Amino acid sequence: MFGRIQPTPYDVCFRIFGIPVRINPFFWLIMVLIGQNFMHTPVSAIAWILAALISILAHEMGHALAMRAYGYWPAITLYGFGGVTTCDSNTYGATRTTTSKIVTTAAGPGVGFTIFGIILFVKILLLPPGTITLSGIINSKLAVLFTPVAYTKAPFLNALIELLFIVNLFWSFLNIMPVLPLDGGQILRDILVKFFGHKGLHATLIISVAAAAIIAFFAFHQWRAFFMMILFIMLAVQNFMALQAYERGQRY
Ligand SMILES: [Zn+2]
Repeated sequence: MFGRIQPTPYDVCFRIFGIPVRINPFFWLIMVLIGQNFMHTPVSAIAWILAALISILAHEMGHALAMRAYGYWPAITLYGFGGVTTCDSNTYGATRTTTSKIVTTAAGPGVGFTIFGIILFVKILLLPPGTITLSGIINSKLAVLFTPVAYTKAPFLNALIELLFIVNLFWSFLNIMPVLPLDGGQILRDILVKFFGHKGLHATLIISVAAAAIIAFFAFHQWRAFFMMILFIMLAVQNFMALQAYERGQRY
């Protein structure tokens, strides 16, 4: 999310479907800080870390597998506030079409929303009939969606699935916000640049600054989500600096 991350001796490295994954130590630190509300016991702390790891990794795997489908060789790094999927090929970017860019970007939140949807489907089947109704959801009685359910006989697994439900929804929703370099911001930029050229990039930067500022305000004022506020303040500042550099005629 914030540029290339240098390897450290404390990185955890492995491969999934042949795609290299590297986890920077700051990933664990930030997940522990963000997850305070979910970590009441050592067991719930492990469930939280696992849920955060699986959700963010699944999101990046969405990007990575889409890149593989287009013939590129991606690598995943998890760090700090999230993850990044990169390609080292020099031709990557230059040879890509707008459609392939949008597909690879959308694949990340697409995987997250799919996991959320599958758990939601199972949950609706397991809840007493009439607990979740369309009219209830339309009238924004959404709290009922988060009623814990016994998916299995194992309490730990149930807690993990419940967290996967929440984290995949939150992480996918956060990532489709129209703020660079989040997925939503990248898709917006690709579409606007396709139709308006350089003016499209200028417009995306302006939208990114405004949207990040509005989300930071809501994160603090409505949701009391301190880390989300910090994240979007950082994104607002980063986009504001990029906007100033762009308007001075420098390369963004
Ligand atoms: Zn993403």
